[in-house]
Amino acid sequence: MYDLIVVGGGPAGMTAALYALRNGKSVLVLEKSGFGGQITHSPKVENWPGTARMSGNAYAEAFLEQILDQGAEVDLCEVVRVEDQGDHKTVYTAEGDVREAKTVILATGVRHRELGLTGEREMIGEGVSYCAVCDGDFFKDRKVCVAGGGNSALQEAMLLAGKCAHVTMLQDLPEFTGEKKLQELLFARPNVSTRTGVKIVDLGMDENVQLTGVTIENAAGERETIDCDGLFIAIGLIPENEPFAGVAKLDAWGYFDSPESCETGTPGIFVAGDCRAKAVRQLTTAVGDGSVAALAACRYLDAMA
Ligand SMILES: Cc1cc2nc3c(=O)[nH]c(=O)nc-3n(C[C@H](O)[C@H](O)[C@H](O)COP(=O)(O)OP(=O)(O)OC[C@H]3O[C@@H](n4cnc5c(N)ncnc54)[C@H](O)[C@@H]3O)c2cc1C
Repeated sequence: MYDLIVVGGGPAGMTAALYALRNGKSVLVLEKSGFGGQITHSPKVENWPGTARMSGNAYAEAFLEQILDQGAEVDLCEVVRVEDQGDHKTVYTAEGDVREAKTVILATGVRHRELGLTGEREMIGEGVSYCAVCDGDFFKDRKVCVAGGGNSALQEAMLLAGKCAHVTMLQDLPEFTGEKKLQELLFARPNVSTRTGVKIVDLGMDENVQLTGVTIENAAGERETIDCDGLFIAIGLIPENEPFAGVAKLDAWGYFDSPESCETGTPGIFVAGDCRAKAVRQLTTAVGDGSVAALAACRYLDAMA
């Protein structure tokens, strides 16, 4: 019986583990693919306070070492269900293991929807990005495209329009679907152009695995290549919280519907990081949640004792 089981070994989950361990609690962290979460896909992170530049992988490795040093137990497995038994929680894995803890923190993160094109994954950090706040500065005075037409894509483009020489918005539907007011503000900028009803069908890549442009195709099957240094893909986020809906309420978009306290309707179950309904999904907000959730779990444990 652990004091705490953390589901998800990304920045939020590892922060939760760190804070609980430093409060003298026993902690097991279960991670289904790789410790570190999404940030391991980023070779260049320049907005982590106090560190001018770091690779996501180096950050994740150092973080894992830190929690192991503090006494965390970790396991690579996928959690498929969590049941509330009142004074303890039962955690089931895809591999058929059953683990028990007095508290659980769900820190399952999100996945960025991908275009699914050849070269897309290889060029992450080399022209392909899913986050203008994270990577916009790397494209100052350069030409970029933004894939998507909803509010997120419009907001990404707005931020980029303030830095980049030119921003081309690429939307596969006939119209942009984001807020009209935001569209008016964005499309009034002299360095923003739009293409609707076009699919991105190919990504250009040079010998250094660097993005050189995107090829689009319209409904008539006509193709055109747009030269650009960056492609920001903003076609949606995919939370993977469905298996836990029985213990933590989801909102209409599949995020955990939990306030800043990271509490859920189930005593002893908390949520943290990108998996929670929130406006900003960054390292800083994920680790903030991790500490809040862990300290709430510690208070709950101390009250039980
Ligand atoms: C390419 C890229 C670049 C980025 N660059 C920056 C940047 O420069 N600066 C910045 O601040 N942010 C950046 N971000 C965003 C940042 O990485 C995220 O905000 C942060 O990782 C969120 O942390 P998290 O722990 O909440 O979720 P995640 O990082 O998504 O971690 C969740 C973890 O939970 C695991 N998991 C999910 N379900 C289960 C399950 N059922 N069982 C077991 N494990 C499970 C996942 O495998 C994952 O490892 C970037 C994101 C991407 C994709």
